[in-house]
Amino acid sequence: MIEAVHSTVNAAKARVVIFDFDGTLSLIRSGWMDVMVPMCVEQLAALGTGESEVQLRQTVEDFVWRLTGKETIYQMMALADAVRERGGTPLEPLAYKKLYLERLWVKIQSRIEALRSGSASPEQYLVPGARALLEALYLRGLRLYLASGTDEENVQEEAALLGVAPFFEGRIFGARDDLSSFSKALLVQQILGRTGGVSPEELLVFGDGYVEIEEVKKAGGTAVGVATAEPECLRVDDWKRARLLRVGADFIVPNFLNLEELFGILFTAPLSVGK
Ligand SMILES: [Mg+2]
Repeated sequence: MIEAVHSTVNAAKARVVIFDFDGTLSLIRSGWMDVMVPMCVEQLAALGTGESEVQLRQTVEDFVWRLTGKETIYQMMALADAVRERGGTPLEPLAYKKLYLERLWVKIQSRIEALRSGSASPEQYLVPGARALLEALYLRGLRLYLASGTDEENVQEEAALLGVAPFFEGRIFGARDDLSSFSKALLVQQILGRTGGVSPEELLVFGDGYVEIEEVKKAGGTAVGVATAEPECLRVDDWKRARLLRVGADFIVPNFLNLEELFGILFTAPLSVGK
């Protein structure tokens, strides 16, 4: 079931597609939010401000979501700000990031090792239909970019482990130590700014985070919000859907299993699309 939010919008002119990685294609880091949010709540609760856990959770979920898709360090900077606002002395954002990644690693280590050893198949950790979607877009002649807020070396390894790296022909980007050298905003600007380049209506994005949808919509492109209920990925997650709609997604999909319908809607049948 594909939900067309703006029924006059389509991507018939698309030449370039930007993909987010985690939660859009890859499930290797599935559950990352259940690691990050409690860690942040824990840090804030330790300050003893008298705020309830529910209130702190709300605060944390707000900034974590708003920065989802951006490099992880920005969420950790927001945590440091929240500690400071409550009169605490925060750790360096990099120290928070290290703590978060250590805890996330406990959750994902076995997945990565299973993929490395071949005891798990890539399909186990791909959003259903992702590989066929990438292949179809590639065969349609679209130029694919992978852009993630996860550290670049990890994105490159994980894309390779999932067997999707070749579709991007080297255009795989992630967080770098030098924050000024990569961001999704920068990537969009570079794609649009290139001479003989791409115009906004030729730009399509698939993402499950605030940042990639916002940047592409701001530029004038088309956005598919991937609101998959992890880890089964068979239905739409209402929490993600509501937030993706708020930031301007043109379409909402639970996964990519209905490729024919998705292609029909995106590329040739802009009107009379059922919800
Ligand atoms: Mg994501």
